[in-house]
Amino acid sequence: MQEQSTFTIAVFPGDGIGSEITPITLTILDKVCEQIGIKCEYKVLDAGAAHYAEHGVSLPEDAMNIAKSADAILLACMGMPSIRYPDGREIAPQLELRETLDLYAGVRPVKTLKGLPLPLGDDRAQALDFVLIRESTEGLFASRENGKIINNERAEDTQVITRKGSERVFNFACKMAQRRKSKGYEGRVTCVDKANVLGSFYFFRQVFDEVAKPYDDIIADHIYVDAAALQLVRQPWIFDVMVTENMFGDILSDLGAGLMGGMGMAPSADIGDEHAVFQPCHGSAPDIVGQGKANPTAMFLSAAMMLDWLGDKHDVPAACEAAKRLNEAVEKAYESGELRPFEFGGSHGTDDIFNKISKLLDAS
Ligand code: ATP
Ligand code: MG
Repeated sequence: MQEQSTFTIAVFPGDGIGSEITPITLTILDKVCEQIGIKCEYKVLDAGAAHYAEHGVSLPEDAMNIAKSADAILLACMGMPSIRYPDGREIAPQLELRETLDLYAGVRPVKTLKGLPLPLGDDRAQALDFVLIRESTEGLFASRENGKIINNERAEDTQVITRKGSERVFNFACKMAQRRKSKGYEGRVTCVDKANVLGSFYFFRQVFDEVAKPYDDIIADHIYVDAAALQLVRQPWIFDVMVTENMFGDILSDLGAGLMGGMGMAPSADIGDEHAVFQPCHGSAPDIVGQGKANPTAMFLSAAMMLDWLGDKHDVPAACEAAKRLNEAVEKAYESGELRPFEFGGSHGTDDIFNKISKLLDAS
């Protein structure tokens, strides 16, 4: 950080709808920061599938270095199904960022907004507010570059669960449950695994129990991933903080986004001890590129998570206040039920959503 109230932000618009939702997010950030007397300085960086197609690298070293030295990283979305590495994998520099910067805790809040039609009818599902934490450096995805296809007859991927990797994400989850408890939430952390079938998950659960034990002010419990999938649809309001392995987290966080009504509503953060990337849960949405239909809400909410994290990390309460203002403007924009993104079957596109939130910020 250059001075108490100026943050340097590395920004990756990435691919697909990224270039449609990034500039307006920076405009929104500037607005809310100016109101509160802080400043963000942006370093806009090129990386992703389109960059790979043109230059043969998906994440240039320069960009990586700038990202490393920034106070935080804001990323829209990367990857295009049509552009792949020679081995068939999709271009995903965001995974490289997670690994290189050791961003072990994938934070996926599932918080519904009032005024939008949601998939579950129960009143309690209209006011969800829980967090899924996904271990982001190992698990089954640890195998992504080493998976083997043998003689075109057999394929193998290996799940890696380490004590170190598990302990740090469990500590992160327990601390989050404690912080939430102090704000009136239940203060419960639920480990999601498959310990009844796989030894690696039995170990994962054992480490969870060890880590959670000293946190005697919060409740720690477990659920098998299949049961978790059931409960996330039947009664998702029972959860407070969930913590799970990388691939389970990948799958369940899309389920969580579904509970919020769509990918365009779901923010996320990938947090390590030094660095953090803030990015909507969605991908580059090639099917809607250039149509003005991309919902920028998830990216605005990710930017709010970024301000909140910066405020906590650098002890700048004004940044947390800016985050709160932005969250409130987003909530207010949807509250009356008039703003209805295309994703929800409505007719409001990127600009409508931006304009509405922007005006609410002006008036706040
Ligand atoms: P990834 O592999 O990067 O997770 P994906 O294949 O899961 O990507 P997404 O790009 O997330 O796919 O898109 C899934 C669906 O959600 C698509 O139909 C897409 O158009 C829609 N979608 C994603 N993001 C948005 C958004 N911000 N606004 C509106 N629709 C979106
Ligand atoms: Mg996806």
